[in-house]
Amino acid sequence: MINRRQWLYGVGVMAGAVAQPGSAFGQDNQEPQKTPHPSLDLSDFEPRSMLQVHESRVERAAFPVIDFHTHITTSARSEHGVELASERKYLGTPEELLAVMDRKNIRAMVNLTGGYEGGLGEVINKYDRAFPERFYTFTEPCYERWKEHKYPELQAQAIEQAHLRGARGLKILKTLGLYLRENITSGQLVRVDDPRFDPMWDACGQFNMPVAIHVSDPVAFFTPTDRFNERYEELNNHPDWSFYGGDFPSNTEILEARNRVLARHPKTNFVVLHVGNFGENLANVAENLDRFPNMTVDIAARIGELGRQPRTARKFFDRYQDRILFGTDATPHGDGFPQQIFNDKLYEIYYRFLETDDEYFDYAPAKTPPQGRWRIYGIHLPETILRKVYFENAARQLRVKA
Ligand SMILES: [Zn+2]
Repeated sequence: MINRRQWLYGVGVMAGAVAQPGSAFGQDNQEPQKTPHPSLDLSDFEPRSMLQVHESRVERAAFPVIDFHTHITTSARSEHGVELASERKYLGTPEELLAVMDRKNIRAMVNLTGGYEGGLGEVINKYDRAFPERFYTFTEPCYERWKEHKYPELQAQAIEQAHLRGARGLKILKTLGLYLRENITSGQLVRVDDPRFDPMWDACGQFNMPVAIHVSDPVAFFTPTDRFNERYEELNNHPDWSFYGGDFPSNTEILEARNRVLARHPKTNFVVLHVGNFGENLANVAENLDRFPNMTVDIAARIGELGRQPRTARKFFDRYQDRILFGTDATPHGDGFPQQIFNDKLYEIYYRFLETDDEYFDYAPAKTPPQGRWRIYGIHLPETILRKVYFENAARQLRVKA
C-alpha cells in the first residue's frame, strides 16, 4: 500500500526530475534550455481547445421556431443613445431573411424595433403584410415628444394608433433608465418607473400588446473595466457600453425600478428580455418570476450566461417552461456583434445549446468568445419543453395560432 502522502511525494520527485534536463528519467537531452516566454497580449491569445468530445451539428430546429427578439429595422437617427426618428433604417430584405428562416425552421421573426407613426406603418407593410405569419413588428415609444407636457396621454394614444396599424407589442430599449434624460439628451436621467409612462404601460395591457423590455445590462458593465472584469475585452471593444461611474444608477436600482413597474401594471404582460436582464443570477430571475405573474423572459444574447451554468439553467427551464421565449437579438449584417449576427451559424449554436448535451462549445460564431472567455454546455431539453420555448409560449404572447 502507498498512502496519499507518499504518492504525492513520489509525484513531486518525478516532476522535479522531468524539469531538469539530463536527469535519469527518460529525457533525451535534445531539448535546448527553456527560456521564459515573452508576455502575450490578451488580444493575441487564441487558445485551441485540446478537449475531444462529441460535436453535434443541429442544422434545423427540431420544431418550428418563433424568434421573438430580432432587429430588422432601426431608427434612422439617434443621439446619445436616444432614437429620434420615425424613419427606419432597413438592415435586411425580407427575401434574404426568409432564405435563412426556411433553412433553420424559423416560422416567424419578431422585429422589435419597428419605431412609430409612418416609419412603423411602412415596416408593417413591407414585412408583416407582405409575408403574413412570417414577420411581426413591435412599436417603440416616441421620445422626440418627451418634453411635451401632454406626453403621458399622447404616448398612450400612440400605442392605440400603433395597435391599429398592426403592431404586436411595445419594445423598450435600455434607453429608458440609461440614456433618456429630462431634456431628452441632457439633464437628469429619467427613471424606469417614471409615472409619466404609466398610461403607456396601461394602454399595452388594454390592447393585449406585450411589452418587450430591456433595462440595465450585464452586471459586469456596471463595474470598472479593469483586470477583474470578466467582460474586459468586450468593454474594451465597446467602451460606450460601460455604465460604471458618472450619474448612472446601479444595476440593482434599475431592476428595482423595473419591478415597481411590473407590480403597478398587473394587467400588462412584460417580456423581460435577456433572461430578465440578469442571466448571471437565475435565483433572482426565478424570484421575480414567482412574484410577478405578468412576467415572461427571453434568452436572447444570453446563452453565454445560461450555458456556463447548465445544471442551474436546466432546472430553470424545467420550472419556468411556460414562461421562457426563444430569442436571439439577431441583427442582419451586425458584424460588430458576433453573439447576435443573423446567420445560419448563430441559430445552429442556439439549437445545439437547447437540444443537445454537447460540452464546452462556443456560444457565438466568433474567433474569440465576444462576451467573456468561457464556453458553454448544452442542456438537452425534452421535446415538450422545446416545443413551448421554440414556439408555443411566443404564440400565446403574439396571439397567433400554434
Ligand atoms: Zn435586442
